[in-house]
Amino acid sequence: MDNKSNYKYLLSDLTTLKGVGLKTTNLLKKKKINNIFDLLWKLPKSYTDRSFSSKIRDLRVGVDQTITVVPKKYSFPRVRNLPNRVSCTDETGEIDCVFFNSYEGYIRKILPLGREITVSGKIGYFRNKYQLTNPKYLSEDASLIKQKHNTYSLTEGISEKIYNKIINQIIEKLPILNEWHSKKILDKFDNISWNKAIIDLHNPENVGAYKKNFYQRLAFDEIFSTFLVNSEIRKKIKRIKKTNKIINIKKQNNIIKKLDFSLTKDQFKTLAEINKDLSSSNKMFRLLQGDVGSGKTIVSLLAAFNSVNSGFQVAMMAPTEILARQHYILAKKIFSKEINIELISGKSEYRNKKIILDGLLNHKIDIIFGTHAIFQKKVNFKKLGLIIIDEQHKFGVNQRKKLSDKGGNDCDVLLMTATPIPRTLTMTMYGDMDLSILKEKPKSRKPIKTYSKLENKIDDVIKFIKKEINLGNQIFWVCPLIDESKKLDHSSAVKKFEFLNNLFPNQVLLLHGKTEIDEKEDILNKFLKNEFKILVSTTIIEVGIDFPNANVIIIENANKFGLSQLHQLRGRVGRGIKESTCILMFKSNLSENAKKRINILKDTNDGFIISEEDMKIRGFGDILGFKQSGIKNFKLADPIHNVDLFLLAEKEMRRIEISNEDISKYKPLIKLYDRADIINDIA
Ligand code: ADP
Ligand code: MG
Repeated sequence: MDNKSNYKYLLSDLTTLKGVGLKTTNLLKKKKINNIFDLLWKLPKSYTDRSFSSKIRDLRVGVDQTITVVPKKYSFPRVRNLPNRVSCTDETGEIDCVFFNSYEGYIRKILPLGREITVSGKIGYFRNKYQLTNPKYLSEDASLIKQKHNTYSLTEGISEKIYNKIINQIIEKLPILNEWHSKKILDKFDNISWNKAIIDLHNPENVGAYKKNFYQRLAFDEIFSTFLVNSEIRKKIKRIKKTNKIINIKKQNNIIKKLDFSLTKDQFKTLAEINKDLSSSNKMFRLLQGDVGSGKTIVSLLAAFNSVNSGFQVAMMAPTEILARQHYILAKKIFSKEINIELISGKSEYRNKKIILDGLLNHKIDIIFGTHAIFQKKVNFKKLGLIIIDEQHKFGVNQRKKLSDKGGNDCDVLLMTATPIPRTLTMTMYGDMDLSILKEKPKSRKPIKTYSKLENKIDDVIKFIKKEINLGNQIFWVCPLIDESKKLDHSSAVKKFEFLNNLFPNQVLLLHGKTEIDEKEDILNKFLKNEFKILVSTTIIEVGIDFPNANVIIIENANKFGLSQLHQLRGRVGRGIKESTCILMFKSNLSENAKKRINILKDTNDGFIISEEDMKIRGFGDILGFKQSGIKNFKLADPIHNVDLFLLAEKEMRRIEISNEDISKYKPLIKLYDRADIINDIA
């Protein structure tokens, strides 16, 4: 086989394997195991050594043992619930092989009378006789049984024996692939080949040997393939030529002057980075990353303004209607009347919608705000020059690439995220984009004081709220996340609203997932205008919403949230100039571990530190729902324990980028490890 057919074999269908039928294939497909390569990552948990045989006389009951016996007599009672039996002997004694639910013909075939058969399994004892119930390991060929059999966490319907058979078959036929790594990289892993590394990985004695060369090499392969794909996408997008925008700095600065705050140094810096991209003749594909409250919105709106002044339209997409509306209101406020701004909402009336769609097509509208609705097929622009996507941490590489394609060549792309994630993850998830980071928060910010309280001390909390309200402040009350069911979340919010409304008549608002859109707008407006003091809500306020006058947030059932999510929720306050407070409420006393976690939140307001801790506790897939994002989950590599491998991969990738090395030798690596559609047009 040449190299190409080698890796093609690994990507081939499971039915190419001997003894694997449609039934097994379908069971595996349910577990997202679609081809031979996928099966390589189904690792043994441990093994059972069946290589030593005993004599019947020496058998121990309850233990897995192997014996070689001769079947002497069948007993097929043909009575319901009575099993079929085969009486077998060796020179030291007698044992029954007992079969529930197996047919006579099958039993006669696997245990023919008078032949020597090696069987293995857990030994039982029944009515003064040894027995083996439903034996799975048996063969006339003793060598097939007398070996180490791996134990797997099993897919329903597939026996361990079948797994062993399949995987042994794959390992035996494992193709030898041409090496893709440079000599220098290979040296770091004692020059172990991919082929040898896979074999070692499946050796049951190596379970958990994370530090060994085979494991490290394979983890590195995985990281590196991701980086390589990211880098290729980035290069590809950057090569796209576009009409450069001409930035009118004077107009921009006029807007900045009129703001009721001055921009931070980082805001100026990131704005300049974005402006440079806008005015370049290469397409922008940039991520603006900044902790909650670092002031990303204004930076992006200024970029939108500059694009409009250069004769282009802008689309700004937010994850929720509420947030889209807030951005829209802000834009209305800070931009002069000469710019046409619209909001497209799921609830817009048909006639209104038609007017908006026409306006976009005729270039009567300059900036459109909305949720993903703005990327529907029927929405067409005359001259789209910039797409801004806010808080889309659930967008995977594929979706971003599609988005960038959709806008057309002249369309720049700016993504924003408030999810401060460890660098290893940024490199993995956003390696296809250029990066602008807002580290500094506005100077006026005061740290948020964070407390934890037991639920039965709610009276203290109420007292505290009264005091704050008397000072003219506003309060978010976030209701407990009861479970995945929105219904229950909703009813608990209603109850809390009634409870608080009793104590603070006509001062409490309620917002939950079921509130109608128009009503939502109304509620948020009333809260924004400070007509009401308390906003009771479910977690729908989590992303992005900005109410500078609210400076207290109460979070019930805080133990249901991860650290990063608590940080996001807490970030709803502390956005104005006042001192702010976050109270985390708990149902019962905290465990030591939970206390440790909460202390991290109390000690720091730095999202990067918090997300790193969160990741240590919950694993990276869980931070703010990346799991649902389709973002690649590593099979072996671990962003916490393999930091060195991530750094090594980054360095190697830069080397390749700078030297402009031909990457075709990495083709099998990419094809095998990263089968996203996007690479079809790369490799
Ligand atoms: P995020 O980065 O979380 O999206 P926002 O853009 O919503 O943050 O900004 C949070 C709040 O801070 C808003 O009320 C905004 O008006 C305000 N803000 C933004 N930049 C500054 C600044 N340089 N100085 C003071 N307040 C600012
Ligand atoms: Mg925001």
